[in-house]
Amino acid sequence: MSNIRVPFNKPYFTGQETKYIQNAVAYGKISGNGYFTKKCQTFFEENYGIKKALLTSSCTDALEMAALLLNIVPGDEVIIPSFTFVSTANAFVLRGAKIVYCDSKSDHPGIDEFQIEELITPKTKAIVPVHYAGVACDMEKIMQIAVKHGLYVVEDAAQAIDSYFTFSDGTKKALGSIGHLATFSFHETKNIISGEGGLLAINETKFIDRAEIIWEKGTNRSAFFKGDVEKYEWVDLGSSFQPSEIIAAILYAQIEELPNIQRRRQSIWMNYNDLFKNEKLNLPYIPTFAEFNYHIFYLICESTEQRKMIIENLKLKGILAVFHYQSLHKSPFAKSLQNNSKLKNAERYSNLLLRLPLYYELKKEDQNEIHEIISNSLS
Ligand SMILES: *Cc1c(COP(=O)(O)O)cnc(C)c1O
Repeated sequence: MSNIRVPFNKPYFTGQETKYIQNAVAYGKISGNGYFTKKCQTFFEENYGIKKALLTSSCTDALEMAALLLNIVPGDEVIIPSFTFVSTANAFVLRGAKIVYCDSKSDHPGIDEFQIEELITPKTKAIVPVHYAGVACDMEKIMQIAVKHGLYVVEDAAQAIDSYFTFSDGTKKALGSIGHLATFSFHETKNIISGEGGLLAINETKFIDRAEIIWEKGTNRSAFFKGDVEKYEWVDLGSSFQPSEIIAAILYAQIEELPNIQRRRQSIWMNYNDLFKNEKLNLPYIPTFAEFNYHIFYLICESTEQRKMIIENLKLKGILAVFHYQSLHKSPFAKSLQNNSKLKNAERYSNLLLRLPLYYELKKEDQNEIHEIISNSLS
């Protein structure tokens, strides 16, 4: 084990987290759906144009709620990018869906909107675009395809808090407010964190009541507390999706510092971009319709060997840089379920993409050193 001096990620705490946890304890209610949960949900609804936000214990949970809400049943097909985290697939596989893997774009790891339509069959139920690195997929095109074929869109916006998409008429919308449903993550690797944590965004009014039931373990407890029903009962499928108020208290402390956190990430990301702009490695491509949140800074190496060498050279100096997803269509589990063909861009990002350290407290000197080590590795 080498000594890591510059980790890949370091959770940032604003300082208010423990105070808010103490407040939650003082309020005498630490189970879910209390004061801090409501504060967090309201923030998402008011700032990002989301109709109804429900806090969950993870983005994985929010994706599982989405699969329940869409009534995914065995035989249904769901189109997702292969270059994503396993939860994007698992949530739907748990309901019996067959996953149909779509390739990434040649210039960006996001789903290739031009390859979606050929994957649609009469069994297709939903498309799940993933906003990789917080950079928007082409939501205008994807929503058009969904409308044309009568499909639902679930945005996996796990990495995409405070990122935006601009439509061709100039309308700008927050990621997570465009699809019928969307999911966010507050895992400690994301921009704002609660350790584990997530959120389901519901943008289609017809899903709201049932989402609250699924969220409340399949009971109509929410309606009961609003005084809409006389007793609360088991009325549908559901599970324990709510985080405790302790988690929500941490998240609220982070939400209050979001502008500051984003400014800091932007400055680090821009500095990397400047440092590497004259190197021969490809830098992240940001489409003009995307306003993004500086979640990841990555380089595209020229070969897997080169990537390995760069990682080793950085590690020798105590710096941790990491690659990212192994394409799901090539995973042992996906292969056990079906035969998947080649997806050349997804495989390219699996083999060549390298993520550099990016966290609030990363120093300029660290970035300079990272650049120098990589630059020397290339010559
Ligand atoms: C982090 C992440 C998830 C999972 O989030 P959890 O909150 O850890 O469940 C899902 N999808 C993508 C694209 C992610 O980056």
